[in-house]
Amino acid sequence: MAKDKKVEQITDMDVDFAQWFTDVCTKAELIDYSSIKGMYIMRPYGYAIWENIQHILDAEFKALGHENVYLPMLIPESLLQKEKDHVEGFAPECAWVTYGGSDKLEERYCIRPTSETLFCEHYKNVIHSWRDLPKLYNQWCSVLRWEKTSRPFLRHREFLWQEGHTMHESEEEARAETQRMLNVYADFMENTLAMPVIRGRKTDKEKFNGAEETYTVECMMHDHKALQGGTSHYFGDGFAKAFDITYTGKDNQLHHPYQTSWGVSVRMIGGIIMTHGDNSGLVLPPKIAPTQVIVVPVAMHKEGVREAAEKLLETLKNAGIRAGIDLSDQSMGWKAAQKLTLPLENIADSVKALLDEVQKELYAKALKNLQDNTFDAHSVEEVRDGCANGGFARMMWCGDEACEVKMKEQAGVTSRCIPFEQQHIGDVCPVCGKPAKHMVIWGIAY
Ligand SMILES: [Zn+2]
Repeated sequence: MAKDKKVEQITDMDVDFAQWFTDVCTKAELIDYSSIKGMYIMRPYGYAIWENIQHILDAEFKALGHENVYLPMLIPESLLQKEKDHVEGFAPECAWVTYGGSDKLEERYCIRPTSETLFCEHYKNVIHSWRDLPKLYNQWCSVLRWEKTSRPFLRHREFLWQEGHTMHESEEEARAETQRMLNVYADFMENTLAMPVIRGRKTDKEKFNGAEETYTVECMMHDHKALQGGTSHYFGDGFAKAFDITYTGKDNQLHHPYQTSWGVSVRMIGGIIMTHGDNSGLVLPPKIAPTQVIVVPVAMHKEGVREAAEKLLETLKNAGIRAGIDLSDQSMGWKAAQKLTLPLENIADSVKALLDEVQKELYAKALKNLQDNTFDAHSVEEVRDGCANGGFARMMWCGDEACEVKMKEQAGVTSRCIPFEQQHIGDVCPVCGKPAKHMVIWGIAY
């Protein structure tokens, strides 16, 4: 029932997972290629999934007091350069506008890869007093990063996302916001997308450019590789100082506000496909599926069948179920694979219960995949061998970036996060032998 759209001739996922994924994206008509490498067309069914994600998250953001805004897509180079770490991180992926019509511009403009700098420029104008805080803004837009490699949903040069940017009076409040939004993402992924997540902090090497701390929700895909589901950043007052944003506090003194940003993108759709899809193609959790139920009348030549089917469709729709009807003459085949007889009386309630069941089963299956393919490691070799075909390794770490770099070189993995739920699985960092500070999840990431 959650199985949307029959997909013909897709590659076996156990033979070539990457090709299976591309096949599902194109043959389930989620994506089409454009004439620009790395820029994809999101087709109606793919975009409908994004719209569902957007509607649910947007309502949650607003319930927590966030307001939507829209800022320009171009960033003057001088503005982008105000925060050193930020510009260094993004410069290699920036695309630039240098002409307006036939006139060469005096200053070139970057097409936004993210909007921290624009938000800061605006916040400087609208934050003056403690009464102006907190500022809880969110923007739904597309951003552009000139990636060298691309894949549908996972790595677009231009991709749709939301970016929340907030300003607070105190460090405590900003830190609480960072955690709060991470939890919004984690709960959404688990409850709505049926994707179990690991909540944790990124190492300094993996954190966002310019952030003091980056928090993440990491998910395991069907092939046991990692996908970063969403991130939430704590900036401290670094950007506020670089952009000279100040407010008069309750003590009548000038202060710099504390800042956060957080975002999720259409990558989530790639994650849903790679978590739940199977060799029949696309499998969507009912809560996010654009079509939850399809009414397929059988023996339509018989009197009253079509009318009864259309009546059933109305009943389901009136009950808030996203239902469609298939009046084509094609053979039932796969559609009737799992047969269940339900009385027409209270059919909407029965269908809702069934959708809940499907949602739970998908989560349970994904959770089992995560648990079955996560293991404790006590040496670099164990991580290398265990993660060679995907999988998450839990290993202790001293906190030195040099050891993290060695893990990449010698085991082919990156640190996914320092999970909030720590376990003590050893006293030393197996890379250098020094005392361990944290348990880290290591894996191969998309
Ligand atoms: Zn070490």
